[in-house]
Amino acid sequence: MYNNVRCIAIVLAGGSGKRMGLEISKQFLKLNGKPIIAYTLEKFSDVDEIDDIILVTKPEYIEYCKKEIIDKYGIKKVSDIVCGGRERQESVFKGLQAVKDENSIVLIHDGVRPFVSKSHIFETIKGAYESGGCILGVRANDTIKICDDNNLVASTLDRSRLWYIQTPQTFKYSLIYNAHCDADKSGFFATDDSMIAEKSGIPVKVIEGSYDNIKLTTIEDITIAKAIIDSQKEKGEIK
Ligand code: C5P
Repeated sequence: MYNNVRCIAIVLAGGSGKRMGLEISKQFLKLNGKPIIAYTLEKFSDVDEIDDIILVTKPEYIEYCKKEIIDKYGIKKVSDIVCGGRERQESVFKGLQAVKDENSIVLIHDGVRPFVSKSHIFETIKGAYESGGCILGVRANDTIKICDDNNLVASTLDRSRLWYIQTPQTFKYSLIYNAHCDADKSGFFATDDSMIAEKSGIPVKVIEGSYDNIKLTTIEDITIAKAIIDSQKEKGEIK
């Protein structure tokens, strides 16, 4: 609870391992013997303000998640496991449809981002309570350019205003649910949930997070992940 408002995390684990070239979906890959998704769920479960976790996954992984993740690692607060969709956006929408309290705050998080810090999770709750929407990001260190179809540079963006956006992306539930309904009806495709919120006019605040909060996407990320685990153990972020 945060100021008497329920806080519900929607953790996404409905993707495949295509980009890693794996048979197993990447969120179930083990790091130091423990599945990535278990680290992520533990993080959210350990934040006092989080009341419930809704886990979104593929139908064929529901039993596996119950036995091999939630029971095995004793993860608390997972109140529901729902089937995802073909695209991430559809998986989020299904997670939102499973929320029962329309006055709640929802935190939408990629299951493959196990290194988000507990204090940043909390900061997004506070931000969403105040602004409607709140997302984590880090400042762009590289110069970012827009190119045409022939890879010729069309323009260079002002780096001082550019952010790499991460998750959690946290919103007042009714605002993001209605925004997702509108996107579904109009066929609007977005690369993150903030984009859906922005289209509906919801103010979204960006909070400066950490470069550790990587999305494990390619096999090379696993090497980086192992180094981050060691530093997070020292900080008490990981058990
Ligand atoms: O594939 P991508 O990197 O965009 O995935 C981000 C997160 O969204 C992952 O945790 C993945 O499991 C989840 N996802 C999902 N349903 C999909 C596609 C991705 O829950 N259809």
